Amino acid sequence: TARTPLAERSAPELEAFAAEQERAYAALKGRGLALDLTRGKPAAAQLDLAAGLLELPHGVKDASGVDTRNYGGLEGIKELREMFAELLWVEPEQVVAGGSSSLTMMRDVLVDLWLHGAVDSERPWSQEEKVTFICPVPGYDRHFTLLEWFGIEMVTVPMNDDGPDVEAVAELAGRDASVKGMWLVPTYANPTGSVVTQEIAARLAAMETAAPDFKILWDNAYAFHHLTEDEAKSADILSLAAAAGHPHRPIMFASTSKITFAGAGVGFLAASVENVRWYTGHLGKGSIGPDKVNQLRHAQFFGSPQGVRDHMAKHRLVIAPKFAEVERILTERLSGLGVATWTRPRGGYFVSLDVLDGTAARVVQLAKEAGIALTPAGASFPHGDDPRDRNIRLAPTFPPLEQVSEAMEAVATCVLLATSEKLLATT
Ligand code: PMP
Repeated sequence: TARTPLAERSAPELEAFAAEQERAYAALKGRGLALDLTRGKPAAAQLDLAAGLLELPHGVKDASGVDTRNYGGLEGIKELREMFAELLWVEPEQVVAGGSSSLTMMRDVLVDLWLHGAVDSERPWSQEEKVTFICPVPGYDRHFTLLEWFGIEMVTVPMNDDGPDVEAVAELAGRDASVKGMWLVPTYANPTGSVVTQEIAARLAAMETAAPDFKILWDNAYAFHHLTEDEAKSADILSLAAAAGHPHRPIMFASTSKITFAGAGVGFLAASVENVRWYTGHLGKGSIGPDKVNQLRHAQFFGSPQGVRDHMAKHRLVIAPKFAEVERILTERLSGLGVATWTRPRGGYFVSLDVLDGTAARVVQLAKEAGIALTPAGASFPHGDDPRDRNIRLAPTFPPLEQVSEAMEAVATCVLLATSEKLLATT
């Protein structure tokens, strides 16, 4: 009976199980833990991998002979654009190497769309009666709070293993001209770890949309963040969209925040040459050029596209054991009981845990009272509202391995207690 699904147990069995969980939880609380599995930050050991950056750059001129210490070059230095163009499967003239945050670039793009419209817009988005975005869920919380800040309405579609529910996306985008765009984290998505297949990307690139200026904000923040040797290749969205006659539809973002230093790396935007001109035209109203000294040291630190891949393999050695530990503990403690399902990501920074409907907030609360900080339930949904109250985002990269183990044992205890409480209340 140790592995009989809880829902199939008799009332006395369930009561005995719940009493056992209460004892385990009381013991857990007594330990006075202070652990944190909330944000997807690199661990200090990962940041140390990029220590060489602090000794760079050697010299001050980029490959074109430009003095990086001076103003100019809004689109970023040539060698870094070329390096990331190769990594992102685009042409160098389609890439902008920017400041230290890709999220800021995303916000800037939305501001520009709002105030001026896109290259293919009839009017600025602010002059539309209503603007709606398609949001695959669970997704990245900051994408949603950014849209909320604009007053952009959000409609959700399920994020599956192979990408968003593309039938649902095509239906929404096809029938409603207020639907102006969608978010997508195409590789090792936050938080599901999903990888958008070439087929789904092709469908998104080619689908008919009621709005002529529909945008796919393709946030490839985890493009190179493999957890196994089986490295997923991101779908080639710019080529697919160009081939389908919608060259200006995708705007791609990438970042070295989780490659070198978080918040002190380089953000990238990639899109059609017209979109790049549109973006830098607006960017130039607020900047005379990016931090090219930081760009130069990044270019020297990596040396080549292969240098970036090799660097990411070092990250994998640091964080893959933490993900393995999450998987081990969830399997040992929860599998077969019918209480939870979870993702087994092959890259990225997160594990997405789905507990019994109506118990996620309770699990997070129990964990908090026992000294384990988890991302608030619902955080991966627009307005923080998970309609089924079942999803919890786990971020195991930052704490040391022993703390990941302790925190996950505690999470398992909280899941079992919350589930037995719920089942007893409904039987
Ligand atoms: N996009 C996604 C999907 C993220 O998870 C994050 C956070 N690491 C970012 C963007 C933020 O990137 P940046 O540091 O370049 O602003």
